[in-house]
Amino acid sequence: MKYDLHCHSTFSDGDLNPDALLALAAERDITHLALTDHDTVSGLDEAAQAAAKHGITLVKGIELSCEWNGQLLHMLGLGIDDTSDQLLEGVATNRRLRIERAESMFIDFERHDIDLRDSVTQQVGERGVPTRPHFAQALIDQGIVKDKNQAFRHYLVRGKVGFVPMQWPEVSDVIGWISAAKGLAVLAHPMRYKFTRSKLIRLIEAMIPAGVRGLEVSTPITRPSEIDMLGQLTKQFGLLASMGSDFHSQQQPWAKLGGATELKDDLTPVWSEF
Ligand code: AMP
Ligand code: MN
Ligand code: MN
Ligand code: MN
Repeated sequence: MKYDLHCHSTFSDGDLNPDALLALAAERDITHLALTDHDTVSGLDEAAQAAAKHGITLVKGIELSCEWNGQLLHMLGLGIDDTSDQLLEGVATNRRLRIERAESMFIDFERHDIDLRDSVTQQVGERGVPTRPHFAQALIDQGIVKDKNQAFRHYLVRGKVGFVPMQWPEVSDVIGWISAAKGLAVLAHPMRYKFTRSKLIRLIEAMIPAGVRGLEVSTPITRPSEIDMLGQLTKQFGLLASMGSDFHSQQQPWAKLGGATELKDDLTPVWSEF
């Protein structure tokens, strides 16, 4: 078995459509793949068809944006029922927030004589959700920056053109949507938030009553000492351990599909509940 329980397609900010993504997963000998696009389940039907074609088990997933004490967090929902009304209502909320943010971003760029509207709209298409990487790509296409890194240094972030502060739903609400859809709520990339260990524990203690089930213990960029620390926390709090690459693009060698380190066998893997 080889699991990758976190990746993106063209339905959010990934480069590959579901079919190409599943083909790559097959090449990498992945047996179980969760497609976890940002704030959308729209890619899951195509992904299911492609998975069947390639003999891979698709785990239906999502990565929902949310906040805790004003801090942006990402919550994975794994094994979701993507027809759940409560989940779909939540997804519609986040999609609307993203569309409103994109509009404010267009206006902010236009104030600085940069017109990204057509490029972003075309990239996103009718079924996708607008994300900052679409704006980064538009800036690259217009020759304003040379790569996404530069786009995220000079634009799109706090204090720069194109930054629009967001108020995402509360983490407890988002965990509730996932649970209502019979999915497992798993905190994505816990090290990304740069919390101290004690702050991470406060977050875990706040998420447990809401129904969180696990932590993403292993990603390709999680250090061995961090993997150990996160694994310890899953044991201490009776949580499940997940692993995923957060794959977006073959241009990002630090997040290769299937590239997360195997979980140690003293942890309870999230797939024990699938
Ligand atoms: P959003 O959820 O629309 O605010 O966009 C966040 C996404 O931007 C993340 O999921 C990453 O995929 C991407 N991202 C953030 N920082 C960078 C960066 N420095 N370079 C490339 N992509 C980035
Ligand atoms: Mn992303
Ligand atoms: Mn994320
Ligand atoms: Mn992700």
